[in-house]
Amino acid sequence: MKLAFSAADEAFRQAVRSFVREQLPGDIRRKVELGLRLEQADYVTWFNRLEARGWLTPGWPPEHGGPGWTHLQRFIFDEECLLGGAPRIIASGIQMLGPVLIAFGTPEQKARYLPDIRASRTWWAQGFSEPGSGSDLASLRTTAVLEPDGRHFVVNGHKVWTSYAQWCSMMFALVRTDPNAAKPQEGISFLLIDMTSPGLTVRPIRMLEGGTDLNECFLDNVRVPVENLVGELNQGWTCGKYLLGHERTGIAGIGSCKQQLARARQLAGQQGLGEDALLRALLQARLAQFEIELIALEATALRLLAPGQRSRVPQVEASMLKVRGTELRQAIYETLLDIAGPDALPFSAEAQFLEFLDAADDAPVAPVPPELASVAANCLDARKLSIYGGSNEVQRNLIAQAVLAAH
Ligand SMILES: Cc1cc2nc3c(=O)[nH]c(=O)nc-3n(C[C@H](O)[C@H](O)[C@H](O)COP(=O)(O)OP(=O)(O)OC[C@H]3O[C@@H](n4cnc5c(N)ncnc54)[C@H](O)[C@@H]3O)c2cc1C
Repeated sequence: MKLAFSAADEAFRQAVRSFVREQLPGDIRRKVELGLRLEQADYVTWFNRLEARGWLTPGWPPEHGGPGWTHLQRFIFDEECLLGGAPRIIASGIQMLGPVLIAFGTPEQKARYLPDIRASRTWWAQGFSEPGSGSDLASLRTTAVLEPDGRHFVVNGHKVWTSYAQWCSMMFALVRTDPNAAKPQEGISFLLIDMTSPGLTVRPIRMLEGGTDLNECFLDNVRVPVENLVGELNQGWTCGKYLLGHERTGIAGIGSCKQQLARARQLAGQQGLGEDALLRALLQARLAQFEIELIALEATALRLLAPGQRSRVPQVEASMLKVRGTELRQAIYETLLDIAGPDALPFSAEAQFLEFLDAADDAPVAPVPPELASVAANCLDARKLSIYGGSNEVQRNLIAQAVLAAH
């Protein structure tokens, strides 16, 4: 197996790199490089530029506007975008719902929703998790009962950890439509819910680093037209599993690891840590260890994506990449915190906003250097990496089951 990139892959990499350099607005790049919080408008600006080039929806088939890339090209694209300081593609409509609608939606659902996702006109929230139903998603209790005339479902329940719900006008949700099904997975359906419907309330959850991008959603007699059912009644688990396969793509975050490792090297130089021989040796050893682990992780990912290999990363390998990639990123963020030292202490949530940094010159206390202002927040925020997309403990179970079953 040949792990080197082909000339065509290298040409593709250069094309993506040039595009990012030319099209990514400087203020957005600056926020990303400083680890600051992005507004919805920042994402939409970038998404619209990608869409104009036909690159917003790499996971969609060409007949629905996908670019028809190989998995290796998608890997290169993700990496180049991150290294060039572009925002991550976070909208659930693009990465999760789109592929589900393409695979399971009616022609009307595709025509109605896909163009708005691609134009970033509609943002979708993922309404899966509930209090008590996270890892064990099949135990979810939100109910959807069909009205006697068969035209609407009435939905009641409580969703939690709903990312970016504050920016979303629609939600795709798993709901229980048959409480008496033989197995819990068999009584679940996949519904599209208008978030402006009467009875739906969004309440923000304050996160460790001060942000409020996670939410609780309360559904109190929310009426949903029957044409918003995706796939068959009580067969929503199939759509949900298909969707989660798309969610986990790229979750190893190799581009992010590289980006943060480069940030660590730059900050270490800026903080003068190279001047003390002992500190220099300790830090060099730690960064070298990260570099080695990153090379190993990348080699594993590339082995799976290399031409001639299976076209999709299989479940157990995806779990391995997720566990290693997220733990490595968390370790790098902790090192960034060490590098920042006492400068990481005067943390304030507002420090994640560009205006705060621009105003820092006039602040009554000594300003934190802009490059360090967000380090503590970023490190706290990184705790989520090993939880979402299926917690690392659960991924380890999957790896163990697959490996033990094979021996
Ligand atoms: C930042 C973030 C964004 C998220 N966004 C969304 C979203 O948009 N929409 C959505 O629906 N959900 C979202 N989630 C929810 C996410 O999918 C769940 O947090 C995750 O599935 C874990 O579920 P839980 O939090 O209920 O933890 P639990 O399942 O209660 O687990 C608690 C602990 O027990 C461990 N554990 C559980 N079961 C086992 C087991 N069988 N073996 C070993 N250990 C186990 C877990 O690993 C964890 O450490 C998000 C979560 C985070 C952190």
